[in-house]
Amino acid sequence: MTTTDRRPTPTESGGGPADSSGALAAPGGSPAAAQSQVTERQARQVAEAARETEWRKPSFGKELFLGRLRLGLIDPWPQPDAESVAKGKVFLDKLDDFTRNQIDGAQIERDAFIPDDVLTGLAGLGAFGMKIDEKYGGLGLSNLDYCRALMLVGSGNPALSALLSAHQSIGVPQPLKLFGTPQQKETFLPRLAAGEISAFLLTEPDVGSDPARMSSTAIPTPEGDYVLNGVKLWATNGTVASLLVVMAQVPKSEGHRGGITAFVVETESEGVTIERRNAFLGLRGLENSVTRFHDVRVPKENVIGKEGQGLKIALTTLNTGRLSLPAMCVGAGKWCLNVAREWSAQRVQWGRPVGEHEAVATKIAFIAATTYGMESMLDLCCMLADDDHNDIRIEAALVKLYASEMAWLIADELIQIRGGRGYETAASLAARGERAIGVEQLLRDLRINRIFEGSTEIMHLLIAREAVDKHLSVAGDIIEPDADLRRKAKAGAKAGAFYAWWLPTLAVGAGHVPGGYASFGPLARHVRYVERASRRLARSTFYGMARWQGRLERRQRFLARIVDIGAELFAMSAACVRARAERDTRPEGVELADVFCRQARSRADAHFRGLWRNTDARDVALAKKVAAGRYVSVESGVLPQPPKGDWVEQWAPGPSREKDVRRRIPNRS
Ligand SMILES: Cc1cc2nc3c(=O)[nH]c(=O)nc-3n(C[C@H](O)[C@H](O)[C@H](O)COP(=O)(O)OP(=O)(O)OC[C@H]3O[C@@H](n4cnc5c(N)ncnc54)[C@H](O)[C@@H]3O)c2cc1C
Repeated sequence: MTTTDRRPTPTESGGGPADSSGALAAPGGSPAAAQSQVTERQARQVAEAARETEWRKPSFGKELFLGRLRLGLIDPWPQPDAESVAKGKVFLDKLDDFTRNQIDGAQIERDAFIPDDVLTGLAGLGAFGMKIDEKYGGLGLSNLDYCRALMLVGSGNPALSALLSAHQSIGVPQPLKLFGTPQQKETFLPRLAAGEISAFLLTEPDVGSDPARMSSTAIPTPEGDYVLNGVKLWATNGTVASLLVVMAQVPKSEGHRGGITAFVVETESEGVTIERRNAFLGLRGLENSVTRFHDVRVPKENVIGKEGQGLKIALTTLNTGRLSLPAMCVGAGKWCLNVAREWSAQRVQWGRPVGEHEAVATKIAFIAATTYGMESMLDLCCMLADDDHNDIRIEAALVKLYASEMAWLIADELIQIRGGRGYETAASLAARGERAIGVEQLLRDLRINRIFEGSTEIMHLLIAREAVDKHLSVAGDIIEPDADLRRKAKAGAKAGAFYAWWLPTLAVGAGHVPGGYASFGPLARHVRYVERASRRLARSTFYGMARWQGRLERRQRFLARIVDIGAELFAMSAACVRARAERDTRPEGVELADVFCRQARSRADAHFRGLWRNTDARDVALAKKVAAGRYVSVESGVLPQPPKGDWVEQWAPGPSREKDVRRRIPNRS
């Protein structure tokens, strides 16, 4: 079936039982559990094994958490080379024209459908090969221009940037670029650059943040190939993709080290069924699938990297792949600022434009300053990734975390500034003859950024793990519950030597010197603050380690505050360095950076206070009682949630009983 025959709507089951639970139910009716049982310890071990443990290049973020402001790693503000700027401009101009004239964002929102000609048009521009090297037919754009392209196309409709990003940042091109064999690159990259779409399939009904529970299997055959079985949930682009990155467990056996492994899978392969297109709060145009694999033969040549490296590949891919979501968040901030500025000057209430009332003015200042701060972080990360001298894994994770949280707040504030019109849909506004400004849509579209590609909670843990890495390596057996007294004593001596040297370095620094960082002019005070705060951050982390030792990993709110402070300090550093570099060409940047830093500083100070004065322990105790049912009386007075159906659908291996709802884009796949 082609899209010209019929448009599959989201939520549509491929002709299966009317009961929507059919999608993931075991064929044959019995929900035999294929799910793995995994302990907390095993889950942590899997996550730990997937970590990149080596630091071959310097990292501004890592140093910041250790109390060392290494400004020299980001200052002077990097400059992209002229050739790459010129190449990017040619493409961005064409994309701008296409987005203005060929994309009807309102139609995509209304129909929850991206028309074929939009996808074909984007392919014609080369948008599916933005990150693919020119030698494979791609555009070979820099990370900076790639992110600008996502920002631009996302302002047409965010489902489009989500599609392009899932295709290139986590789909087949990026892992192949980093880990693919020459043959894999030759085989797949030209197809993708020409417009075939790819998707990344890790999540399963029982696997969200915790990949250790993965049940999809890839069993080696005597010929050396693999047979893939499993069900993958929520694959962005899954309904339209022709090439998939699929994560599956290879069992350990003779000649096979086993473990979670990444494969390139052709959607056309026998046994692949797109069982459903999912629908969400926002991103209505998203082509997101439930995909079943039943005895799918995957050639050994399609293993990416090695067996057991799947999660490491996914995490490494995300080092730069994570920059696309913040790009879309920065784009959202820019759009919000544009709406806020024009609307709040036009709308008069109580004798003044609403933007002149203090309560609204402060929201506008938050939107403007935060957008400047987020953009500074993003551009910096992109340029550091492009010149490849620094390790940006912490910075990219920080900007994903920060921008997804801040863009959500920005959109929420814009709704408030727009009043009732903020809550009204663009179509309804237009029907009444008003400007079709869909702020409510933006809020819905943005919400997912706090959940996918690492939820905020998981990002806090992931970054905190890197932030405390030095302490863990020094403390070693002191905090290892299974270590005996002799090992603990040995580790204690080693740690004692390190901390005797390191702690005094955190007492004073350049941030205490009046007039320090003078070259930053009016922003120098903020750089001094960052320097002082980074030492305070490192001391606080040490106090946390000393107090809770191995139990620190359970102090998730403490760790989250540590990370959030680090994010504010990184954002301030980026904003100051950028504003100073651009002070002749964009002098207004200094004012924005100044206000941004003042706002960021008050947030960081609140986090510092919260480290030691909070309700965390009481909250955890209360949550335990909530779980035990002590407060069910609070729930009375409303209808309870529907009791029917599983919370998480059980599935079993086997052939699909659903009709395939794959959408084929003419001339593309
Ligand atoms: C629109 C959309 C598109 C998506 N696209 C893709 C895709 O292309 N490919 C793909 O593979 N997946 C995709 N996903 C899946 C997405 O990555 C997951 O939703 C995400 O990883 C979170 O998993 P979960 O929803 O199962 O939440 P859970 O893992 O069940 O988590 C529930 C809550 O608990 C928190 N939590 C979980 N573990 C911990 C912990 N150890 N400590 C503290 N808090 C914790 C989480 O942060 C969350 O708040 C998509 C999802 C959506 C909704």
